[in-house]
Amino acid sequence: MTMPAPVTRPIDKRAVKAFAIAADAGQWLRCRTRDGRKFYGIPSQADPNRLYFTTRDACTCPDAARTPALMCKHQLAVRLHCAAVRAHRQQSHPLAVAA
Ligand SMILES: [Zn+2]
Repeated sequence: MTMPAPVTRPIDKRAVKAFAIAADAGQWLRCRTRDGRKFYGIPSQADPNRLYFTTRDACTCPDAARTPALMCKHQLAVRLHCAAVRAHRQQSHPLAVAA
């Protein structure tokens, strides 16, 4: 039996930052595109005067532009936020308790 290699992938750092960003979801701008899709204006952690526009699948930050195949911390934060909102709604829905 071999020991698993220690996990120090960059995604882990990004996940930690994403949790911090998601905790501040109250500060985000909530916007909609012309075709009705939701996106968020998320303040940059490095420069609070700068906003990045983020959906679950895209982001205007430099990180997302550099590595389009990877999810940036903002996209991750949006997904965390959406999952948290959904879980909260299900919890507060009386029928969800029986399910
Ligand atoms: Zn981003």
